[in-house]
Amino acid sequence: MKQIQMVDLQTQYEALKPDIDQNIQNVLDTAKFINGPDVKSFQQELADYLDVKHVITCGNGTDALQISLMALGLQPGDEVITADFTFAATVEVIGLLRLKPVLVDVNLDTFNIDLEQVKKAITPKTKAIIPVHLFGQAADIEPLLKIAEEHNLYVVEDNAQAIGSDYRFSNGHIAKTGTMGTMGTTSFFPSKNLGCYGDGGAIFTNDDHLAHRLRGIVNHGMYKRYYHDEIGVNSRLDSIQAAVLRTKLPHLDEYNDRRRKAADIYDRLLSDCEQVTTPYRNPKSKHVFHQYTLRIKNGKRDALAEHLKEKGIPFGIYYPVPLHQQKAYKQDSFVHENYPVTNMLVEEVISLPMHTELELEQQEYICEIILDFLK
Ligand SMILES: *Cc1c(COP(=O)(O)O)cnc(C)c1O
Repeated sequence: MKQIQMVDLQTQYEALKPDIDQNIQNVLDTAKFINGPDVKSFQQELADYLDVKHVITCGNGTDALQISLMALGLQPGDEVITADFTFAATVEVIGLLRLKPVLVDVNLDTFNIDLEQVKKAITPKTKAIIPVHLFGQAADIEPLLKIAEEHNLYVVEDNAQAIGSDYRFSNGHIAKTGTMGTMGTTSFFPSKNLGCYGDGGAIFTNDDHLAHRLRGIVNHGMYKRYYHDEIGVNSRLDSIQAAVLRTKLPHLDEYNDRRRKAADIYDRLLSDCEQVTTPYRNPKSKHVFHQYTLRIKNGKRDALAEHLKEKGIPFGIYYPVPLHQQKAYKQDSFVHENYPVTNMLVEEVISLPMHTELELEQQEYICEIILDFLK
């Protein structure tokens, strides 16, 4: 059996090696390292894939979030609501811009932002909501958009973990995650569902005016060469990364299918174990399984993790500490008891190896060890 990895990027590269190598070589030969033709083409190809009007690439997924908030022209102290159970980047950029993060609890089934809690958290100072499509499944965006509309709030979808996923509205319309709110953001970190070979990110929007703003902000607030109209940042996807992403994008649906198939296999192998809760699948969203995350009951998660470590099976604890308890983001307004679901999840979750190259034999081995331990 091949050695089990949390994410196997080597085997995935091997399968595309001739194309990837050729396309990187082409960038080297033409020496158009920044803003080369591959960057332009990739933006267009991703926009076509997502069925969104504008894709603006940038340096990474955290920049994408920060730049989106900058484009909204929010004022210091304005409140931005997001989930307590997510990667820190989401709350980090809110704080960095001197906005006020308002963390709310998540839904126990989907791990995504809890809409009842969002409603309760809205105040006259609330300006935006950042739902995170966590682990590869869409947050319940239709009612969230309705809440946002009623209160005149922007919605920035953090789609770093769910590129290629979609959401079905009650009228039957299906849209890709990241294209339904005011803006959507993503990350091309190597281990994400569409990863490059370094850092990269992008912002999506259907709004022409915002797209113009975003293109200026990523480039030092410059709308006309050497005329700086506002304070921006320097955040770019370089041409080599764009060449890699252009090569991988046509395979994204197939990659996500393979992740879903691997998830089906885990589901099947683990379904009989009462101490394990396999991931809930929202019928409104196509799950793309950035992570395959179990909940382990009876306080046995840490012991299981220890056991997997001993057996040489990789795993992840996403996330071990709620954001409201992180040293950097703790504030008086975060009341520990207001986050019962997150507080429970951080004790129960464990993510199993998940990538496009998993083999049945590996999954059977992983599950055998888990079931044997929990017996
Ligand atoms: C990975 C990730 C980010 C940040 O992306 P980077 O490219 O690493 O900056 C933001 N939000 C979520 C939910 C992520 O998983």
